[in-house]
Order: sequence, then structure tokens, then C-alpha cells
Amino acid sequence: MNTKTEETLTFKLPELPYSADALEPYIDTRTMEIHYGKHHAGYVSNLNKAAIPAKNVSLKAILANISSFSTAVRNNGGGHYNHSFFWQILTPSGKGRPDGFLLDAINDTFGSFEEFKKLFAENAMRVFGSGWAWLVVRDEKLAIGITPNQDNPLMDVSPFKGVPVLGIDVWEHAYYLKHQNRRQEYIDDFWHVINWEEVGNRYNEALYSDEMTSL
Ligand code: MN
Repeated sequence: MNTKTEETLTFKLPELPYSADALEPYIDTRTMEIHYGKHHAGYVSNLNKAAIPAKNVSLKAILANISSFSTAVRNNGGGHYNHSFFWQILTPSGKGRPDGFLLDAINDTFGSFEEFKKLFAENAMRVFGSGWAWLVVRDEKLAIGITPNQDNPLMDVSPFKGVPVLGIDVWEHAYYLKHQNRRQEYIDDFWHVINWEEVGNRYNEALYSDEMTSL
């Protein structure tokens, strides 16, 4: 009998790029501790239990082909990607607004940074139950949309597609301890802790890779 099992991928919880109390008072310490240390860690643990064969090269490649995986991989693979992304686009030293090419694109697409903020917040508010709102690059243009649960715009099953450059987690676990049912206040606080340098870098990279794939 052949008892050799196929090698599987191992996913790891990435380190937070700042301490759990760094985003106070906008995102409170206890929320960060539970959100990162319990929720995100849980997605990683459950993704590893799903035992994805090592022939799948990366999480991004899995997401792009998520329709051929189980619901457990969709939920936990999405959860792992989304939260790893989310920690990166937050910072304790947010500048409050983007600059450079990203600011130009936001102004061209939405009219102004204020109009962009309004539309993004409206989308974050219209998520019913648990999900995410996103700013993505698609066909070399910016677009705003939402996904339910832990789906994201990289998934082939998502009606809203693109390369994410900014996203907000509007699951209640992201804000309930501090803001309770007041999602709008959580969104207002979110603007204070966005890492616009990181978002700008992701925008430039997404634009470049988008151009390359369309050649
Ligand atoms: Mn979350």
C-alpha cells in the first residue's frame, strides 16, 4: 500500500507591521489583538487544515482559480489574503491623503479626493452583513466595489474584479468593541490610519502589471 501523502502548502500568519496599540485611538488595541491574533490566525490555521496540494504555486493563483477549490479554501484563503493585505495598508503615521500618480488618478476618476472618500464610504456602508469594500485597478482604471464574506476582487467567482489597492474590512469583528453598531464612525476613523504610501505603491504596481498583461 502506498502511504506517501502528497506535499501540501503551509501558510503562515505574517507579523503585524506595527504593535497592536499603534492605531489607537482610531482602531483600539483589544480589537487589533483579537482581529489579528484570533480571527486572522484562525483563517491561516483552517487554510492549512484544508491541505492544499503543493502544486498550487501561490495564494494569488489559488484565488484566481477559487471556483475549483472547496468552500473552506474560499473562506479561509480569502480571509488570509484579505487580512494580510489590510494590515499592510494601515499605519500609525497616516498622512491623511494620497499624492503622486494615485492622487491624479483619484481626481480624474472621481472628481476629487473628497468625492472619492464619499463614494468609498457609501460602498462600505452598503455591505449587508459581513464583507469588504475595495478600491481596485481594472483595465488600467480605478474602480470601487464590494465583496461579501471573505471574497475579494482577485477571485474568479467575484462579480467585482480587479487588483486591490485599498480595502476596508466591515465585518463587525473589525469594529464592534469600539464602535458597536456604528459602522460609519469606524469608516471615519479608518481614513486617519491609511498607509497612502503603500496604497500608492500598490497602485503603481497594479497599473504596471495590468499594462503588461494587456500587451
Ligand atoms: Mn476581519
